Amino acid sequence: MIQGIGASKGIQIGKVYKYFQKELIIEKEVVKDVSKEITKFQKACKKTEKELCEIQTKTQEKMGEEAGAIFDAHIDIINDPEFSGAIINKISNEYSNAAYALKMIADKFIITFENMDNEYFRERAADIKDVTKRIHIHIEGGEMPSLVAIDEEVILVAKDLTPSDTAQLNKNFIKGFITDIGGRTSHSAIMARTLEIPAVVGTKNGFEELSDEDTVIINGDTGEIHINPAEEMINEYKFKIKKQEKKKEAWNEYIKKKAITKDGKQLEIGGNIGNPQEFEKVICNGGECIGLFRTEFLYMGRTEAPNEEEQFQAYKKVLQGMKGKPVIVRTLDIGGDKNLPYLTMEKELNPFLGNRALRLCFTMQDIFKTQLRALLRASVYGNLHIMFPMIATLAELRQAKKYLLETKKELLSQGEKVNNIKIGIMIEVPAAALASDILAKEVDFFSIGTNDLIQYTFAADRMNENVAYLYQPYHPSLLRLIDIVIKNAHKEGKWVGMCGEMAGETRALPLLIGLGLDEFSMSASEILQKKYLVNRIDSSETKILANEALSKTNQEEVIELIDLFLSKV
Ligand code: PEP
Ligand code: MG
Repeated sequence: MIQGIGASKGIQIGKVYKYFQKELIIEKEVVKDVSKEITKFQKACKKTEKELCEIQTKTQEKMGEEAGAIFDAHIDIINDPEFSGAIINKISNEYSNAAYALKMIADKFIITFENMDNEYFRERAADIKDVTKRIHIHIEGGEMPSLVAIDEEVILVAKDLTPSDTAQLNKNFIKGFITDIGGRTSHSAIMARTLEIPAVVGTKNGFEELSDEDTVIINGDTGEIHINPAEEMINEYKFKIKKQEKKKEAWNEYIKKKAITKDGKQLEIGGNIGNPQEFEKVICNGGECIGLFRTEFLYMGRTEAPNEEEQFQAYKKVLQGMKGKPVIVRTLDIGGDKNLPYLTMEKELNPFLGNRALRLCFTMQDIFKTQLRALLRASVYGNLHIMFPMIATLAELRQAKKYLLETKKELLSQGEKVNNIKIGIMIEVPAAALASDILAKEVDFFSIGTNDLIQYTFAADRMNENVAYLYQPYHPSLLRLIDIVIKNAHKEGKWVGMCGEMAGETRALPLLIGLGLDEFSMSASEILQKKYLVNRIDSSETKILANEALSKTNQEEVIELIDLFLSKV
């Protein structure tokens, strides 16, 4: 058995598919046999072209002509005589090994393209990076993995999955995933919850221990992975899967019901989404709003940023679909563990503490303004709330609002219609939590992002499984920050939501009701159970619970207190 961190609930039984991601270390070598190196390079190019054509066909079948067309540009690079000619020349003239010659020439092309004014050419840099990686792997005699190409039901096992890897997952085939790296709030874990597939992360060496022939039971609730289980155990788990399905049926009667406590306090329970289609899942699960639309997923798995029209259509779809219910759209939050291949982002030692989210948007004004234009234009189709991520200071909030106002004026002067919208911020930096009395005066609402607030409060990287024990949502220090934020907002007559993963945890529910939280936003699959539970809770009792929790000395004591409370519900 392997023990990891349960990151997305559910149980699945399936065959292992190992996803190999090769790390390329390329060093300069002086070769004697130049023609052998040239042949190596040419053969690798041929293999890459064949592989790309296969992926293109599969992508076209699954996702349509347009998606498949992305690979045309990749194939063109391989066949570009200027590109391959320069590599062959370098091998011949400098007796260079093929891998090194390829790297040097590709880097030169990438830098040239990245610095061009024309957007089309800038996009080519990302294509060259992709193709070069494939050729490199073939020079070294490896196979390039492709997630899109998986067409049988499997449990995916990887050392790590980036959010854009996860964005490519087809849940018809990928029934669950296991990664060595990551914690409960890494973005690939969040994606797994959105896809509603079980995931276990932070297994440390699960990748090494598992092999392609293995059958595993993956338990996303407990983080357990059973390798090649006996018939008896498989039956036991099949029974558990059935039991879980029955419970879900009982919650279904809450789809149309409101989240009202026994003593009549009404709360709002909504869903987090990463793409426009997902609002339907939120509605089907009884969600009353979209509490967080993580727009960065619109920018992933592609070779260029989505343009204004494309974004406008995405936001309009969600706003119309939610029929007047609040839709909180968060502006682009890239950086940290989320990168975009087509943006030149400096390599940073501490990306979660670096140029991330709004900070990055301020340095890439074109991208930020395009998003704001699309959002404001879409505002006429529903109840739009715009939310800025990673605010640390009042100056940042004012700067973001200034961009928004400028964009609004520009649109109005162009004859576009713009509705009045609500403006809010995420509270995910301790500095913002502590100064929430100041910030509350200049926003309409707060939404607490516990995933980041916890990592910044405990100084523990949310991606690092070695410090995952410091993900302590029930620690009094975090509860005190939440308490400060809610009190400060309420003093100004503003409401407070939570869209971090804590909002969807069963244990957190009575505690947060007691602290006075107004809105909860979570993965769609968590909503019904929470509505069911709210209707069984007395809010005056949760106040006593919250006050007691605030005075405890550690997380364990708080959990004990909550579990006692929940055992009586
Ligand atoms: C958070 O930090 O809690 C949050 C909701 O934002 P993200 O997980 O996307 O960083
Ligand atoms: Mg965050």
